[in-house]
Amino acid sequence: MQVDIAISNSALDSHPLLAAEDASEQTGAIVEFKGLVRREEAGIRIAALEYEAYQPMAENTMHRIAEDLGKTHACDRVVIVHRSGIVPVGEAAIIVRVCSKHRAESFALLTHFMDRLKQDVPIWKIRSIPLTEKPIPANIGKQSPGFSEVLAIVEAACQPLPTERFPLANAFGRVLRETITAPEDQPAFPRSAVDGVALRLDDRSEEFLIVDEIRAGDWRPRQLQLGEAVRISTGGAMPSEGLQVVMIEDVELADGRCRVKERSNETHIRVRGEDVRRGGTLLASGSSLTAGAISLLAGIGHIEPLVTRQPRIVHFTTGDELVSAQQTPGPGQIRDSNTPLVAAFFQQLGLTVAHHHLPENLAQANTALAHHATEIAAADILIFSGGASVGAHDHTPQLLHNLGFELKIHGTRLRPGKPLLFATSGPRLAFGLPGNPLAHFVGLIGFVRAAIAKLTAASTPKLQPAILASPLQAGGNTRETLWPASLSLRNGTLIAEPLRWSNSGDLATLAHTNGLILLAPGTGLLDQSTPVNVLACTQFP
Ligand code: AMP
Ligand code: MG
Repeated sequence: MQVDIAISNSALDSHPLLAAEDASEQTGAIVEFKGLVRREEAGIRIAALEYEAYQPMAENTMHRIAEDLGKTHACDRVVIVHRSGIVPVGEAAIIVRVCSKHRAESFALLTHFMDRLKQDVPIWKIRSIPLTEKPIPANIGKQSPGFSEVLAIVEAACQPLPTERFPLANAFGRVLRETITAPEDQPAFPRSAVDGVALRLDDRSEEFLIVDEIRAGDWRPRQLQLGEAVRISTGGAMPSEGLQVVMIEDVELADGRCRVKERSNETHIRVRGEDVRRGGTLLASGSSLTAGAISLLAGIGHIEPLVTRQPRIVHFTTGDELVSAQQTPGPGQIRDSNTPLVAAFFQQLGLTVAHHHLPENLAQANTALAHHATEIAAADILIFSGGASVGAHDHTPQLLHNLGFELKIHGTRLRPGKPLLFATSGPRLAFGLPGNPLAHFVGLIGFVRAAIAKLTAASTPKLQPAILASPLQAGGNTRETLWPASLSLRNGTLIAEPLRWSNSGDLATLAHTNGLILLAPGTGLLDQSTPVNVLACTQFP
């Protein structure tokens, strides 16, 4: 009898062992048992069950039981695949296929196998994942916080992520988590700063005998006599102390001799330690690895800097009205513009983000989340697009709650971005961003970026003073407003051109927005040149 056994983390129906042709010439019966996860467990509606298998012992035991039973029930072949991890409702936790000459043997082996499986095999249901848990507490955190309050709540919840040593060649943009000091003086030996001839500072001759040529990389110390000079290249090691290099443009070379046409007081020597002394700080912990910083680290041979590990981000979109950007929306549908927005936002921070779409139906959304349980558990930040408000189909607060997150902010006094959500589960963060693209943008630039900065231990983005390029009629709104603007630098001053926006879904305005002007509640007409505070989306000095 042939026995094949596997334990798998993914859906069993497509398992390769079950795709194989099982029937042999004498097979007259194939009996297949599929154990499904029921939608109720102990009378409670559930989204999924979680199984844990003690491999390879579980596989060995199943093998032994099947072989054992084969002795008393003559069968041709047994295939057993068992699922481990999260198994959503309706999916198979186990499939057993038995082939035999007559059906009786297959049925008998199968029945006995299932009995012994429960008793002897180390595979356990470790928990059921409820469909909906307790209703969310009505009174959550701070009521309707404004910009600085939201920011403070978010930042207070952020702890720096662990560090890792990372290959320098791929470390661009990462945040350094160690102080880098110079292992030796920089430069480590006196070098010529120019192409020229080296001669003694105290030698006032006009003509010199060229006694050597030193190129970058050569090492030939020697004492020069009066009347002697050495040709030297940029970066060449000075042959001794007390010298000066005269630039090649200021001498005439002929027949192994040189005549100095012009001689300045400048020595044209990069003296040892003139950039930085041994032990001096080169880079502070918390600095970003720019191209220049990477080059500096390469220069001192620091090839595995200690940096913050990359934050892991998972983005979920909600809304049955959405189709992907590649598709043509049907009546009433719209293209999903938030997924590319979120991806590009993180790309700018050097991060990638996983994306999944969730069905609007709460039970289905729970099941879909259960599919991604491992990814969710490993994520540092979850971002939910849409469904953050209080409508009948706005399930994001409930979904977050079901995932074990505690809501810290449920609604703000910001415009756009009133229904913003923020929740935490231990060190993990979740943002529920209102679906409208401008509100999304405000959430990303205003708060998610600050969270990333805190998690990675980078310096946090700050409000910057700017001057209005033209009058701004803010309309006296009762909420604090983050007004889309186009920022530019003029003679060192940040200038904010307020952009016209019709509503928080205004994608046309979003495309030109590179900054947000923070306006106090009740702000009406502001004249041109009024000083304002802005959040810049790209870095301005
Ligand atoms: P919600 O926050 O789910 O109430 O959505 C508010 C508005 O944003 C609705 O008009 C949605 O259709 C729209 N919306 C939600 N998600 C997206 C998305 N991913 N891309 C573009 N618009 C969206
Ligand atoms: Mg929605």
